[in-house]
Amino acid sequence: MRRISVFGSTGSIGQNTIDLITRQGGAQTYDVVALTGASNIELLAQQARALRADVAVTADSARYADLKDALAGSDVEPAAGPEALVAAAERPTDWALSGIVGAAGLAPGLAAARHGGILALANKESLVCAGALLKATCTRHGTQLLPVDSEHSAIFQALRGEEPRAIERMLITASGGPFRTWSQARMADVTPEQAKAHPNWSMGVRISIDSATMFNKALELIEAKELFNMPPEQIEVVVHPQSIIHSMVGFTDGAIIAQLGPSDMRGAIGFALNYPDRQPLPVERLDFAALARLDFEPEDPERFPALRLSRQVMRMGGLAGAVFNAAKEAALDAFLADRIGFLDMARLVEAALDALGSDAAKVTQDITLDNVLVYDQASRQFARQWTATNA
Ligand code: NAD
Ligand code: MG
Repeated sequence: MRRISVFGSTGSIGQNTIDLITRQGGAQTYDVVALTGASNIELLAQQARALRADVAVTADSARYADLKDALAGSDVEPAAGPEALVAAAERPTDWALSGIVGAAGLAPGLAAARHGGILALANKESLVCAGALLKATCTRHGTQLLPVDSEHSAIFQALRGEEPRAIERMLITASGGPFRTWSQARMADVTPEQAKAHPNWSMGVRISIDSATMFNKALELIEAKELFNMPPEQIEVVVHPQSIIHSMVGFTDGAIIAQLGPSDMRGAIGFALNYPDRQPLPVERLDFAALARLDFEPEDPERFPALRLSRQVMRMGGLAGAVFNAAKEAALDAFLADRIGFLDMARLVEAALDALGSDAAKVTQDITLDNVLVYDQASRQFARQWTATNA
């Protein structure tokens, strides 16, 4: 039986993954090693019991007793805290999903990358803050990195059987988020509630707000550069409000191959789960008569500075991405806490890059988790000071 682990199993990506695993026979089909969550202990325990996991881990050390109680009478081992998370990721598997949100997913992702098999990556942040390190770890241990982000899954699917030298450009589609047509002046007063409401996709709160600022697309540009070793100048953003085309690849002969599907993450997750096969998935089938039309617009880096900052980070290289990602996470926390406004998020990230980016960019050799975390922490510290003086 295939041994699998799901990191972040209680989240939006995690629950969709558990849904597919369950539909494909659950504990009858898979040897489930580790499932992990943070605050939703009840759901974590329920998933671990149903799939007969070896271990269930909550990232929150203070919730150990709750998890132990919730698992009482089952064979599932309870564990808690960041070290336990990494220890769970060190247990060998054939397939692991990196579905924790934020830089917190980096350490468990790196541990999972050290035992071969497939690492299905939803946690784009780990490629943004430590792309070179994660890729080198995968290469050294014979681990195959598969994208779970819908855009990158689309590109991966479009590239099957193609020669890398025939690739001319990658076109990453973006819905444009809830404020696609808004002026910057109107965006100034956006509340967290408004920013959470994504027009097409149902996702975790953080990525939904990242979609509203277009920081999600900014992360995805870097994710594409890292995953496909693509020069940044050959990666474009196309705003496509319907989110039906998940992304496209343009080839040297002018042909473009696009991947289309409903806005349901189980498409990309299921592709990675069943890779290299395709299995029937419980997603809606596209009805082109009902769709009627697909629209496209150019990106607007004036109203959405996140895209401009992402290109700056790619030009800088080194560990500039660690500064960028941590500042973005800290800015999002400050926005959610009503300490800064919607437009301040990009201002804070730009200020952090100005202050720390060129220093971080010099780190191009011997990259380790520790020096990634040095820049991650410095950037969060900068964000605290910026928030205190600009709030
Ligand atoms: P979510 O907030 O719904 O779930 C996050 C998961 O991580 C939960 O299981 C939570 O318990 C866990 N978690 C949170 N903080 C943690 C910490 N400090 N340590 C350990 N675990 C922690 O998020 P999501 O929307 O499922 O996104 C997960 C990842 O997938 C993100 O990197 C996101 O960018 C990416 N992604 C999500 C979608 C989507 O449709 N939701 C699409 C593409 C990519
Ligand atoms: Mg995406």
